[in-house]
Amino acid sequence: MAQALRRIPVARSQADDRYEELKRLLEARRDVLAHEVHGRLRGVRAEHESRPHAGADFGEVADTDMQDDIEFALLEMKAETLNKVHEALTRLEHGRYGHCHDCGDEIAEARLRALPFAVRCTPCETMRERDVLRAQAEFRRGAALFEARG
Ligand SMILES: [Zn+2]
Repeated sequence: MAQALRRIPVARSQADDRYEELKRLLEARRDVLAHEVHGRLRGVRAEHESRPHAGADFGEVADTDMQDDIEFALLEMKAETLNKVHEALTRLEHGRYGHCHDCGDEIAEARLRALPFAVRCTPCETMRERDVLRAQAEFRRGAALFEARG
């Protein structure tokens, strides 16, 4: 009894709440994706079985093939996202999820809700984008100078 009690935290910290919230967020997304990917796979298989392959003219075959390609590409994208969700959940388990890659601060929950795989907090991301823009501007200025000289 005393053993069991000791494992329960005295007070639930904000970090625990955040952990639970992020976990729920990721798991909800994972469930939706898993449902779509698996449901779609079943659908594709059923279509293949019901489709009369013999006797279909070539144009029809080409159309359905292209349709299959698009479906497959979408499915691949979703499976890829599903992988990312699994990775994020693993990072969360190890306490590495939801922290900014650059400054180590917690990434705001609203941002994670919109972009579950964001690796930087908003200030760092803004700074980074500004750096990229500045670099691009400098590059263009350099190129313009070079052209003017030539
Ligand atoms: Zn940051």
